[in-house]
Amino acid sequence: MNAQTGCRDVPVLKERGQREVFCGLTGIIWLHRKMQDAFFLVVGSRTCAHLLQAAAGVMIFAEPRFGTAILEEKDLAGLADANLELDREVARLLSRRPDIKQLFLVGSCPSEVIKLDLHRAAERLSAIHAPHVRVYNYSGSGIETTFTQGEDACLAAMVPSLPATTARELLLVGALPDVVEDQALALLAAMGIAPVRCLPARRSSDLPAVGPNTVFALVQPFLGDTHAALERRGARHIPAPFPFGADGTTAWLRAVAQEFGVPQATFDAVIAAPKARAEKAIAAHATTLAGKSVFFFPDSQLEIPLARFLTRECGMTAIEVGTPYLHTGLVGPDLDLLAQGPVISEGQDVDLQLTRLRAARPDLTVCGLGLANPLEAEGLTTKWAIELVFTPVHFYEQAGDLAGLFSRPLRRRALLRKEAAE
Ligand code: SF4
Repeated sequence: MNAQTGCRDVPVLKERGQREVFCGLTGIIWLHRKMQDAFFLVVGSRTCAHLLQAAAGVMIFAEPRFGTAILEEKDLAGLADANLELDREVARLLSRRPDIKQLFLVGSCPSEVIKLDLHRAAERLSAIHAPHVRVYNYSGSGIETTFTQGEDACLAAMVPSLPATTARELLLVGALPDVVEDQALALLAAMGIAPVRCLPARRSSDLPAVGPNTVFALVQPFLGDTHAALERRGARHIPAPFPFGADGTTAWLRAVAQEFGVPQATFDAVIAAPKARAEKAIAAHATTLAGKSVFFFPDSQLEIPLARFLTRECGMTAIEVGTPYLHTGLVGPDLDLLAQGPVISEGQDVDLQLTRLRAARPDLTVCGLGLANPLEAEGLTTKWAIELVFTPVHFYEQAGDLAGLFSRPLRRRALLRKEAAE
């Protein structure tokens, strides 16, 4: 499909009203699992601590790798005291936990925190605790970030201090579960593409170097700031559709393979078996999904690649594809592959969007947790957007699970209707 038939150049409905999304602190839940010697210290309020606790669910760690330094008004005689308190808290943490090599100070919404200069605090603490621990800072505040932007802010904060290199290297950017990352690395290795580095790395000792001969491929579409930070270091982005579904994965791999001059026969031989497995797994769910309509609320920034997957590989029709931000430099190749027809919307005015949704009554609505329950009560079938980031969904071996995330609520709704009719 080319730009004339795809959605890259269609008019975008831009809305700037009230929005219903989680804040960027949520990313800590998947980032702390990925980065095994990192600790995320949220500088925030009890609300932030509760959010993390709730999002982490029932996971109990002997040695958790995230926590909250609670700063409330009663704690503050002044900013100097807050900084001293933060320094003491960090010193206590690091003396207790010699396994921590990277410490992220994560900013939040409360006004006491906004007044603190966490960037300077991170510099000060890095100087105190170097070379054993590197201290970074980023904001996960709900005022500034939606939930996947937390990962973007975290990775972008790391880029300026990555070592420099002139080596020609491929960098995969975006947090994937280790097992999925290993699958991607195995496919690239089978094509003869090496060395391949990852950001984030599993351990600080594996952090990639970056420079003018680095080429990078994103595995998540919400990494706009990280993309810009890498380009500032001279690295070059390989634009590609995102690796969701059999076709998306093939297109992503093809873009990387072309950059590295992989022969067509090698490429075809490497992808043949996993691609066939993915197509078969998707087909099992496509019987439920084909002919159904889907409406995306703006939430995870995965919406455009997922709409491309659901319409092209599962036979669904997209009515509206909402995204918090539309970064054509990142999702342009997916927009090219998305047939014209759906409303493409950026930002949110939740009441107006709910009106459009109720008029359209789609078969499936992809939205945040806060909207899902009331919409289910109205008889609409929903999928929680947050599950899309907590579940392994990338590359060939997960393509069936990805389709299953959308077919399951439709099957459940059909069963409930059947039971009610009996
Ligand atoms: S929205 Fe703000 S106050 Fe609420 S949990 Fe997120 S950072 Fe904390």
